[in-house]
Amino acid sequence: MKKRILSGMRPTGPLHLGHLVGALNNWLRLQNEYECFFMVADWHALMSEYENPKDLKENTLNNVVDWLASGIDPGKSTIFIQSHIKEHLELYMAFSLITPLGWLERCPTYKEQLREIKNRNLSTYGFLGYPVLQAADILLYKADSVPVGEDQLPHLELAREIAKRFNSLYKKDIFPQPKALLTKTARLLGLDGRKMSKSYNNYVALSDKPQVIRGKIMSMFTDPLRIKLTDLGHPQKCNVYNYYVIFAPERKNETDKLCRSASIGCTDCKRELGKILIKFLEPIQEKRENLLKNRKQIYDILKQGEEKARKIAKVTISEVKDSLKLNL
Ligand code: SF4
Repeated sequence: MKKRILSGMRPTGPLHLGHLVGALNNWLRLQNEYECFFMVADWHALMSEYENPKDLKENTLNNVVDWLASGIDPGKSTIFIQSHIKEHLELYMAFSLITPLGWLERCPTYKEQLREIKNRNLSTYGFLGYPVLQAADILLYKADSVPVGEDQLPHLELAREIAKRFNSLYKKDIFPQPKALLTKTARLLGLDGRKMSKSYNNYVALSDKPQVIRGKIMSMFTDPLRIKLTDLGHPQKCNVYNYYVIFAPERKNETDKLCRSASIGCTDCKRELGKILIKFLEPIQEKRENLLKNRKQIYDILKQGEEKARKIAKVTISEVKDSLKLNL
C-alpha cells in the first residue's frame, strides 16, 4: 500500500515560478510514489489576510487551476479545499484544548513573522494557533509523511508532539507520528534577489502574459560588478544566470562563457531569458486557458477530491469524539 502524504498551499495570490520550482515540481514526483492529498489552505490564508479576504475566492480557484495546469493529476492525487471539510476545524478545536501555550509561543516561525510582517496585525489568537491547525490538517488524514522545507520542521515537530500528547492523554493510539520528507529543491530567488514572494512583488506568475514576463525579466538585478558592456561578468554572482541554470540548463555553459568574456550584454542576456521563460510557460498557460473555459470540470475535480477527503476525515473525527466522550 502506498504511504500517504499531505501538503497544501495558502491561496494568498497567484502562483509563481518559485512555487513551481520549490513545491509543485516536487508534488509532481510525489504523486507517482505516494497517496497524495493536496489542499488549498484557505483557512490558513485567512489567518494573515483576515482583514482583506476579497481576493480569496479567486485565488483559491486560480491556485487549483495552476496545480492542474502544471500536471497535478486528479486521477492520482486528491485535491480539495480545506474549508470545505469542516472536520479540519473540529480537530483543530480538539488539539487547541491540549496544546500548551508555551509550545506555540516558542515556535520560531511565529516569532519571526510577528517581527517581520509589519503591515498586518498578526497578534491574534488565530495566528498563534496556526501550527495547531497545521497539525490538524496533517493528522486528520493520518499522513505518514509531510513534504517540508527546513523552515517548516518546527511545525511538523509540533504536530508530532500534539499527536503524542493526544494519544497519551486518552490512552489510544489514534494518531501516527508523521515524518518529514525533506526534499532538496532548486532555490529560485525573486527578480530583485530576495526570496520570491507576492509581498515583495518580485515574482513571475505562472499566468503572466508574455509582455509582462518580458518587462519583469528586463527589470532583474544582474552581476553588480558588471557596469559597462566591456566588463567581464561573474555569472555565479548573477541571479539571471541562476534562472538559466534552472530553466535552460542546456544553455548554461554557453551563457557562462559569453558572460565571462563580455561577449554578451546584460540586456541581450535578459531578453533571451525572457524568451526562454515565455516558451517554458506556454504549455502551462495553454492548459490554464482550457481549464478556465470549462469551470465545471474544475468544480467536479474538487467535489471528487472533497468526497474522498471527507470520508477519511469523518472516521478520524469519530475516533477523536469517542476519546473526548462527545459521541452519544
Ligand atoms: S550577461 Fe547575463 S549572466 Fe552575465 S551578468 Fe549579465 S545578465 Fe548576468
